[in-house]
Amino acid sequence: MAIKEKEVLLGKSLSELTTWVENQGQPAYRGKQLYQWLYEKGATSLMDITVFPKQWRENQAENIIGRSQVHYCSTASDRTCKYLLKLADGLIIETVGIPTDKRLTVCVSSQVGCIMACDFCATGKGGFTRNLYAHEIIDQILTVQNDFGERVSNVVFMGMGEPLLNLPQVVKAIKSINEDVGIGARSLTISTVGLPNKILELAQHKLQITFAVSLHASNQAVREKLIPSANHYPLEQLLADCREYVKMTGRRVTFEYILLSGVNDLPQHAQELAQHLHGFQTHVNLIPYNPISEADYQRPSPERVSQFKKLLQQEKIAVSVRYSRGLDADAACGQLRASKMK
Ligand code: SF4
Repeated sequence: MAIKEKEVLLGKSLSELTTWVENQGQPAYRGKQLYQWLYEKGATSLMDITVFPKQWRENQAENIIGRSQVHYCSTASDRTCKYLLKLADGLIIETVGIPTDKRLTVCVSSQVGCIMACDFCATGKGGFTRNLYAHEIIDQILTVQNDFGERVSNVVFMGMGEPLLNLPQVVKAIKSINEDVGIGARSLTISTVGLPNKILELAQHKLQITFAVSLHASNQAVREKLIPSANHYPLEQLLADCREYVKMTGRRVTFEYILLSGVNDLPQHAQELAQHLHGFQTHVNLIPYNPISEADYQRPSPERVSQFKKLLQQEKIAVSVRYSRGLDADAACGQLRASKMK
């Protein structure tokens, strides 16, 4: 039986679930039980919820909870686990579980594919299919949580898709991840390449999340080469919107900068970047590129990466270098899905 999105249980609050069980002729306390089984125990089917009457469970639509199936899973030597998840309509998305000593971070997708077509990105090379529903985003976190057998501490919207192009479902998912799954808003990060008007639209929600902007270039010409949509959004305007975001939310903006050898990693690029960011309370994450076969870019040498970092530090810009984890598990965004789709 096909289920309409509004009937799916994952993503509903305690009061919505209570109303739902009551509408099914069940007592109100079953709403609390359902809530706990969905978000704490990670039930993937109503049949798992053994405290419910068997006959009633059997009469419900299959997959009314709204969970995906793990289609494929690849684990790297550092325990980073990359999943391909099969959605109810058969489409495949990528999700990554990234464990460290103190944390378990999930990198979630917000769309199936991506329309932004960034030149260095495997997802961008594969085109766009559709937006994810909120429950399909929440499901990714519960799937990783179940598989690792430990609580997810952080969520980053850095998987497939541009989250600001799916803002209503992303905001709905964030509220549920915060209130129902129980992950603090400050441990949730939305990352965007930046779209006109969308940064301020996000700011209006006044979420206490971490906000990251993928800058990837220190000037408009390089940015347009790497991110085709940037030709409708001048770098100056993007930075002005980021400043306004800080004013509206009281939260800092983090800038992500993928370092591509010979393209955006030269000393003049570091100096240009520093000039743009002077007086801006921010943090820059430098990400040495993970090469993909579909794009003609290379990772800079470690010396070049350190030099870039040092130049920013000399200009009093707070900066870190983040190497992608799980390199032996097709770590670049969209890479595993692209290779398995072939
Ligand atoms: S980098 Fe992000 S926004 Fe750009 S194509 Fe890839 S998924 Fe889309």
